[in-house]
Amino acid sequence: MDFTPSARATELTEAVRAFMQAEIEPVEEQYHRDLAAADDPWTPLPVVAELQAKAREQGLWNLFLPAGHGDAYAEKYGTTGGTGLSNVDYAPIAELTGRSFLAPHVFNCNAPDTGNMEVLLRYGSPEQQREWLEPLLRADIRSAFCMTEPDVASSDATNMAATAVVDGDEMVINGRKWWSTGVGHPDCAILIFMGLTAPDADRHSQHSMVLVPRDAPGVKVERLLSTMGTQDPPHGHGEVSFTDVRVPLANVLAGPGRAFEIAQGRLGPGRVHHCMRLIGLAEAALELACRRALDRTAFGKPLANLGGNRERIADARIKINQARLLVQHAAWLLDTQGPLGAFSAVSEIKVAVPTMAQEVIDMAMQLHGGGGLSEDLPLAGAWTNARALRLADGPDEVHRGVAARLELMKYGAKR
Ligand SMILES: Cc1cc2nc3c(=O)[nH]c(=O)nc-3n(C[C@H](O)[C@H](O)[C@H](O)COP(=O)(O)OP(=O)(O)OC[C@H]3O[C@@H](n4cnc5c(N)ncnc54)[C@H](O)[C@@H]3O)c2cc1C
Repeated sequence: MDFTPSARATELTEAVRAFMQAEIEPVEEQYHRDLAAADDPWTPLPVVAELQAKAREQGLWNLFLPAGHGDAYAEKYGTTGGTGLSNVDYAPIAELTGRSFLAPHVFNCNAPDTGNMEVLLRYGSPEQQREWLEPLLRADIRSAFCMTEPDVASSDATNMAATAVVDGDEMVINGRKWWSTGVGHPDCAILIFMGLTAPDADRHSQHSMVLVPRDAPGVKVERLLSTMGTQDPPHGHGEVSFTDVRVPLANVLAGPGRAFEIAQGRLGPGRVHHCMRLIGLAEAALELACRRALDRTAFGKPLANLGGNRERIADARIKINQARLLVQHAAWLLDTQGPLGAFSAVSEIKVAVPTMAQEVIDMAMQLHGGGGLSEDLPLAGAWTNARALRLADGPDEVHRGVAARLELMKYGAKR
């Protein structure tokens, strides 16, 4: 196993670090204050586009694009394309951006757009790529992924009941989705919709993924959901109804019935990226905890020297380092053996890392007393993010099920 990033990745990581220190960190606190005070928090603040323009100028743009793909776009767009990094190479960059809420957006490396761009890159036709991938790569538009449904247990994707029915040269779409992240953003222009096309086909060939323009007649954002008290503007998580929505058959990704194959490809790297960013978030929380532990005095001593706090800090360092190694291992397996070879490893990190981040952030909140739960500090938002990732992209239990199944199969168990 070799987790050493390439010379190019090391250079890019240092450039991202310098950009974050010079451009993002000085404005981030004010950004959150301005957004909270804005009359309409759903209109993005201009600072985001300004920072995006600077990042793009410096070639720090679309760094998530996978090896073998990014370079084609780098050539096409000059510095605005990707760099085609391996997962091991991208890991330290994603970790850095995960320290900040703004950074992934500034570098055009935020979920769910990255996963949706990867789908278009791997499975989109040249027309689909021209119409939707290229504006996404430029950040001219945003996207959402509409799989989860309120009426069925969506941790089992074979349950999806919303329909995508072939009618001549059109697809007709009906049903209701929720937790469609990003659908509240005013630039959200394209939805990847997963629906039932062939109920009688084999279990994993019944569903299709279809590109549905956000403004197609029959698409309605019914409401924006609140996650632990925040609606997460200007991105949002929406409940969306689809009523007799008609799109050309050419909007189906890869062909009818291929949704599961696509989902597999989309979620592997996406889950690793989430975990890489969470390592960064946990590091940022530990840094705040240490500073607080040294600066604040109670009962005549710094908090660091009071009952058990040193052990808590040490445990946080140990847990972060363990989790990072596990993520690097999953990234290396994805690079060297592909999604099938990394199947268990990706599920393992999807269980381990959000739980680790939640625990580290919780410890940091506790050391900050009442302030830790306020919006004066980024910790409550960070905790919510980690907590949500124990559900988003599959609940912990489902990923434990994958790891257990693969382990038991080594000893003769059937699927
Ligand atoms: C902040 C946030 C953002 C999200 N973004 C998106 C998005 O952009 N697009 C999208 O489509 N979805 C998104 N989701 C939805 C998320 O992927 C689903 O909530 C998740 O897959 C679980 O589906 P469900 O809510 O229907 O829960 P259910 O399927 O009803 O499951 C409920 C619970 O049952 C238990 N359970 C389920 N299966 C098993 C099992 N095999 N073994 C043991 N216990 C089990 C688990 O405890 C699970 O949490 C998001 C969710 C959140 C919170």
